[in-house]
Amino acid sequence: MDRPGSGQRFLGVGSEAPAPSGPEDSALKEAMLAQGRAASFRFRVNLWSRLTGRGTFDWEAFERRLAAAEFRRFANATEARRSLGWAGLTPDGRWLFGIAGYRIPFYGKSAMRHELFHAVQDFKSGLFQQPPGLLRSLAAEYSAHLWGGPLLGIPLAYGGSLCILFSVIYILSALAGIR
Ligand SMILES: [Zn+2]
Repeated sequence: MDRPGSGQRFLGVGSEAPAPSGPEDSALKEAMLAQGRAASFRFRVNLWSRLTGRGTFDWEAFERRLAAAEFRRFANATEARRSLGWAGLTPDGRWLFGIAGYRIPFYGKSAMRHELFHAVQDFKSGLFQQPPGLLRSLAAEYSAHLWGGPLLGIPLAYGGSLCILFSVIYILSALAGIR
């Protein structure tokens, strides 16, 4: 069950993390829309989009898609523990989000922006429709950790994220060292 690349290890992109199947959560929707409008989030996404050759980012279209998305609670503690944060598609092709603990200071904001960044990746390159794979998951997670929000608050209990966190810190410190 603990194979690398599973959703469990990669915070919501992967086949093994269950989608949130609880009731819709309007407070989560409100909080996610607010994070999606935050100047610091948009700044980072704009920078990512330009630096990676994806051009300007259409925030109006993104926000329309986000406003039409479903935001759900996890049905129970097991589901929440296995997914923590989840971003993907509903059967009718809308975005679907679930974030356990989004009200927790620091962590919640970071987790919401992380999943929002996966929506950004889907918006630009159809992330949610691509078949899951270890390399693709790794690349998607690196980007989401790096661009989606502060690295603080990544649940350290999760080996995959810890590994990503350490390699990001390693790369950043190496870059800082040569300057
Ligand atoms: Zn992720």
